[in-house]
Amino acid sequence: MNTSARPKKSFGQHFLHERRYIERIVAAISPRQDDFMVEIGPGEGALTFPLLRAAGKLTAIELDTDLIPRLREQANGVGELSIVHADVLKVDFTAMARQAGVERLRIAGNLPYYISSPILFHCIDHAASITDMHFMLQKEVVDRMAAAPGSKVYGRLSVMLQLACRVEPLFDVPPGAFRPPPKVDSSVVRLAPLPPEARHDADPARLYAIVKAAFAQRRKTLSNALRQLMDAQTIRAAGIDPKARAEVLAPMDFVALAKLRDTP
Ligand code: SAM
Repeated sequence: MNTSARPKKSFGQHFLHERRYIERIVAAISPRQDDFMVEIGPGEGALTFPLLRAAGKLTAIELDTDLIPRLREQANGVGELSIVHADVLKVDFTAMARQAGVERLRIAGNLPYYISSPILFHCIDHAASITDMHFMLQKEVVDRMAAAPGSKVYGRLSVMLQLACRVEPLFDVPPGAFRPPPKVDSSVVRLAPLPPEARHDADPARLYAIVKAAFAQRRKTLSNALRQLMDAQTIRAAGIDPKARAEVLAPMDFVALAKLRDTP
């Protein structure tokens, strides 16, 4: 009898079934008994149970109520599974770590692709409470996250992620490894939040506004793209050519821009 639920498109459900990829992901995470593991979107438990077996306990955040009873049932005798029925974007990871009495969480998940960028930004907001993250994402998103200045896919996601984390693409996963297969290739990536001494000290809202404006029209010079936020003289004061385009700036150049204000 097939007891699997019908995957729901609206929840971005593509269940991983190929054992060798499940094993590679779990080996990359390599959970230990004292880790506080959190999984985003356990689905039918492809990653949940191997992780639970290795870590002894795991907190899983799932939005689809229909999947929860079966997950609870299957966890019997495997380990201590705590299921949070919630939208992950509303979960406060900092509070979760504090309540659990741990300094940091380890987060993993085969993410729902329709909200992968918001999930990434949400996680980096809580980076100080996270040891590492292992995520399955669209390959194209991982390529953008890891892109270097000058690359065609270098942009907002590359800068914001690289200023918060070490981004390490691990391996690709083909559509056939999922049920139903997604239309795109996937990749697994490891994100390790930077230690406090390596984190930038610019105002996050100002930084975000600058990065967003700089890449909104990639072909514009910085002085044009940032016209509403700063003048050419301020850009020059940060040691950056106002005629340059955003795509050639290193992530720390945006921090330098965010720390300067226009000279009156
Ligand atoms: N981890 C499972 C696997 O690898 O087979 C399922 C992965 S599936 C791509 C994404 C999972 O995220 C689904 O279980 C889906 O219901 C869940 N999900 C979708 N949106 C969510 C949200 N906003 N918050 C938490 N979980 C969500």
